[in-house]
Amino acid sequence: MVLNSNMRELIDDIKDIKLAIFDLDGVIYRGEKLIPNVDKRIKDLKDSSIKVVYNSNNSTATRQTYVDRLKKFNIKSQISDLYTSASITSVEITKLKKKAKIFVIGEIGLRSELESLGHEIVDEPKNYNDIDFVIVGLDRDFKYNKLAIAQKCILEGKAQFYATNADSTLPVARGLKPGAGVMVNALITCTDKQPVRIFGKPEPYGIKMILNETKIPEENACIFGDRLNTDILAGNRAGITTIAVLTGVTTMEMIENLKFRAKKSKKVDTNLIPNLTITNLNEIFKN
Ligand SMILES: [Mg+2]
Repeated sequence: MVLNSNMRELIDDIKDIKLAIFDLDGVIYRGEKLIPNVDKRIKDLKDSSIKVVYNSNNSTATRQTYVDRLKKFNIKSQISDLYTSASITSVEITKLKKKAKIFVIGEIGLRSELESLGHEIVDEPKNYNDIDFVIVGLDRDFKYNKLAIAQKCILEGKAQFYATNADSTLPVARGLKPGAGVMVNALITCTDKQPVRIFGKPEPYGIKMILNETKIPEENACIFGDRLNTDILAGNRAGITTIAVLTGVTTMEMIENLKFRAKKSKKVDTNLIPNLTITNLNEIFKN
């Protein structure tokens, strides 16, 4: 075998990895800023013949927008490398019903993913009974009136309530902003109904879709994520190696605290605990 001269050796914990799934916010970038050297380490992984894909709970942008954003950060990708909670939701909703009529609380990413699979987005339903699904994602133009329509579609019509994700917060360049969970919980509160399903992390729909499409077995796959109750939980539920990166919302103290509590009590979900914790991506290589 001719070794690629650029090849770097992975640390023993992940030496059999063939597929690396990356969360975006808090792992690749924070807001508009690339996390230092992530572009170079991703290139190192690709040079070592590791398939790299991206799985974000952020449903606001289209996959093409993410491809363009990554390109700006010197990371080459294509649409098929991107799995957002919006694209995963669209695929899963299509399995339930083709050409559905949908009321969306969400942004262009979710809307366009649904439309691209043949669904109709109805913004001002004339008859609430016409709406098959209300789908909720992060909406930075969230308004009382949208909530009121969604409520009517569910309570007066027959719409089923689904959500892209329920993240409480969104990491931005400086600190945190409210996440999709705020919109999801608003609709839970005014309908007294839970979403039938939430398709983003920590549910393993996305990771299972990725394993299926890449045909890489779970023992050769890992996820890099900054959030324990989404990325790490989803990865552990899907049976892949989970790596917490401390460049986003989680600190070493939070992980140590969780491990400590898990030892003392059976009430802690051990799927929240990552297999590996790193402060940055440089630590995954030996040399
Ligand atoms: Mg994140």
